[in-house]
Amino acid sequence: MQTNEVEKYSGSCACGSVTYQVDGDLGDVTYCHCVQCQKASGHYVASTSTKTSDFILTNEESLIWYQSSQQAERGFCSICGSNLFWRLKDDDEVGIWPGSLDHSPKLRGKEHIYCSSMANYYEIEDGLPKHDFFPGYENEGDVYGVKKKL
Ligand SMILES: [Zn+2]
Ligand SMILES: [Zn+2]
Repeated sequence: MQTNEVEKYSGSCACGSVTYQVDGDLGDVTYCHCVQCQKASGHYVASTSTKTSDFILTNEESLIWYQSSQQAERGFCSICGSNLFWRLKDDDEVGIWPGSLDHSPKLRGKEHIYCSSMANYYEIEDGLPKHDFFPGYENEGDVYGVKKKL
């Protein structure tokens, strides 16, 4: 295996008006069951992530960043409505909804977060760790706050 080769991924929204590239690693997938993710996605959200410095928007003409809380914003396509990204202010990572990636790269599930607000029409039965909020946080006040560095 060549170690000097940059790993490269690409992705897009459903209509192709937003396209992006990842020139680095993709993180394990976190499943978020918070109310904002439910509203924004219509279900719960799966999110991988990459470093902001490895994330390149190759076409963003229809991309809108919706400020969903004081600290966070969600990127979606204003033409087709695809949910694509999530990021915290001043963070060095961007969350990517992995269904938007091309060629369905092999990613591992990591954990479920905000299970305290999950909806009542499904169960979590994949054996992954479940957290009530962000791992390391224990109360509602932290829900949309700043991610604790673990
Ligand atoms: Zn689109
Ligand atoms: Zn969420």
